[in-house]
Amino acid sequence: MGEMRRVTAICNGSVIDHIPAGTALKVLRMLRISGHRANPVSLVMNVPSGKFGAKDIIKVEDRELTQEELDRLSIIAPHASVAIIRNYSVAEKREVDIQKELVNVAKCTYSNCITHGNREPQPHRMTIISSDPLQLRCHYCGRPQDMDAIIDNLL
Ligand SMILES: [Zn+2]
Repeated sequence: MGEMRRVTAICNGSVIDHIPAGTALKVLRMLRISGHRANPVSLVMNVPSGKFGAKDIIKVEDRELTQEELDRLSIIAPHASVAIIRNYSVAEKREVDIQKELVNVAKCTYSNCITHGNREPQPHRMTIISSDPLQLRCHYCGRPQDMDAIIDNLL
């Protein structure tokens, strides 16, 4: 238990751990979790963490995050892990699996890229050229992405 005590026990749902401190709100946005959904969500920010200095933790009740949803987080939280909680105990643990490509996670940061035209909407595809630190290249225009700018282009 230890640090997990900071998060009130939940009956069923997901606990996302090892989120870089201060990025929990972006993670919620990436998971398309907003105040409009019915699931109760709790954030714990700036929890001391031996491994990374400080971290954020998110708890989402009554929703089990899929591996695919977790993998979307590789842009901002490559070390995140998820514990799936069923009946107050950890039923499954998952970690971000860095893929070769991220599809429909973020838009190309170059405004003249073909993906910004609306005539024939294309899936947004980013090739991962390095995982640590994460570096992305647009599948269409081939340009390397500015990792700070791309945070503003998350879908
Ligand atoms: Zn592009």
